[in-house]
Amino acid sequence: MKSQSRHFLIDEWRQYRNGEVEEKKAEKMEEHLYNCDQCLNLYIEATDTILDIAIQDEMAFTNGVMEQINSLVSIEQDREKTRKSRKKNYYRQKWLHYCVAASATLFLMSSGIFDKVASEMISVQEESFQESKSFTVEIMNKTTGFIDFIMSDEREGGK
Ligand SMILES: [Zn+2]
Repeated sequence: MKSQSRHFLIDEWRQYRNGEVEEKKAEKMEEHLYNCDQCLNLYIEATDTILDIAIQDEMAFTNGVMEQINSLVSIEQDREKTRKSRKKNYYRQKWLHYCVAASATLFLMSSGIFDKVASEMISVQEESFQESKSFTVEIMNKTTGFIDFIMSDEREGGK
């Protein structure tokens, strides 16, 4: 039997998100996240609060989004290894990435700082997704393409 660790609270996921939990606990939480839909939802909810911070602090938002993307990328890669035949997980990953990409795009558009993040996102993507060509990559590509489209549109329109 696999040892089933306890569920975590949303506050704990927020702390995890902010890098406020100690390494050992963070590892436990990550491991738990791979196997628990319930906590994955809490985690998504906890990361949503980053979007609230965005309204107050653009830099925090930029960093938050980048961290969010980076940690999701590494979770995705770990899951890739352990997934094997668990198809359900695959759809969950797609959905998770879609949520992050979509909310990031929306908020970047409204806050006008997508220039900065978009370029970073592209480099993160190129580094991290080379190995795993999946539907999520397509989604992220589309999001980036969309951002590019808006950016070029703005540039042309601005001059
Ligand atoms: Zn759980």
